[in-house]
Amino acid sequence: MSRSYAFCLFPHVSQSQKRVTVTPRSLTRICLISVFALIASSSHAQIDRWFSVQPIRIYDDAGLNPAPMPLFQAETEKIFAQAGVAPIWLPTVQVNDSSMLVVSSVSDVNVPGNGQHVDPLTVNMWFVEDLDIGPDWILFGSAYINGNGVVINGTDVSTWGGGRRDTIAHELGHNMDLEHETLGAGGGENLMTAGTSRDVPGDISHITPDGDNLSQLTAAQITQLRSSPFLGTVAEVLVDTNGSTPYSTDDFFLVDFASGPLGMSLSSLTMDLSPVNAFLDPTAADPGAVGTPFALNAASMSGVTAGDLTISGDTDGSQLLTIDFAAGSFTEGDSFRFGIDADLYTNIDGYGATPEELMGTLFTFEFDSGLLSEAEIEDDLIASSIKPIKNLSFSDYNIIRQIETPFQWELHPDPVRAVPEPASVLLFGIGALLAWNPRRRQNKFIENRGS
Ligand SMILES: [Zn+2]
Repeated sequence: MSRSYAFCLFPHVSQSQKRVTVTPRSLTRICLISVFALIASSSHAQIDRWFSVQPIRIYDDAGLNPAPMPLFQAETEKIFAQAGVAPIWLPTVQVNDSSMLVVSSVSDVNVPGNGQHVDPLTVNMWFVEDLDIGPDWILFGSAYINGNGVVINGTDVSTWGGGRRDTIAHELGHNMDLEHETLGAGGGENLMTAGTSRDVPGDISHITPDGDNLSQLTAAQITQLRSSPFLGTVAEVLVDTNGSTPYSTDDFFLVDFASGPLGMSLSSLTMDLSPVNAFLDPTAADPGAVGTPFALNAASMSGVTAGDLTISGDTDGSQLLTIDFAAGSFTEGDSFRFGIDADLYTNIDGYGATPEELMGTLFTFEFDSGLLSEAEIEDDLIASSIKPIKNLSFSDYNIIRQIETPFQWELHPDPVRAVPEPASVLLFGIGALLAWNPRRRQNKFIENRGS
């Protein structure tokens, strides 16, 4: 079995030295990339894809001295947001094994029974104390290209320049089949460029589309990434408001399953009125002597029946209304309208909360997979499960997906990826840093390529 390696080689430079020299030609290229990325970013302001990450933290044999775990969650989320994708971080798994604290490659930790998630399409990410590839080198991370598995050098990613904030996203990009010099990578501002010439954001305010506009993905990279088998879909469900008050209506709220994969269904919808200081007023009981109950608009029921819906929380003073759906009943193309009186605590029994006053009301969309999307009513008077969202998570992650063999074959002509055996995976993406000694770097580079 032959192996090919991709190296990310970094000269030892301080952060103040990290910017590339800007010549007129490279400036043009950088500007073009910037505009390109901003367009790509704005077209994906929504989050309609997710992937799951299983952090695996190595401790010593006694269960002490854990490897540092620089997840850089917010930075990684911001980087992937430009592709309309959100990482979902599963609870960390602890592995006690002193021999795993210092390794040299993801293949050293990707051995059976080493904390991997049972779902083959959840990315396993090991955090070790050090990646040791020789005294003159720092290896920040190592990841399969188009495969499942990343190992992170917890110490150096934590401490380099106050934190190497793009390494987690860079290595995840390798798993999703992105490389150093393809699909527009190669410039300082691109996430996937090798570390030698990549500008690392000093803090989150320099990640695209802000500040120095770093960690960009090109449209071609986004297309590639979004085709990765690691990704799942967030279906689009909307809650729209209709009219001027929910009082005495059965159609003030429209719930519309606008788009989603075949078979995906909504299992529950919760409306939380507490952010806008409002409450439900279904009867004459306090608070609010004048109220109207929950009512479905019979004529609006499309693809779903009243019998599929179970309502709870529709009591006086309640700030939480929940609609549970019969399994599989509410799917793409289905919609219905309902009403229930809601008042502001600052105006009990007044006109009733207007759509504008309900801006900020928080909806939680729970899908049959357990995926939870939280979104509030925005200034367009709509809450959407994909745009913009406040949070994406799983109530209980128990997904075990199948790797589709034909799709896999199209992505990479190497069917062994379905079985994460390190010896059978063809390509590795490796991020390395070597001492700032050009002559030595050359020698070391050749030496490593030959090894
Ligand atoms: Zn790399």
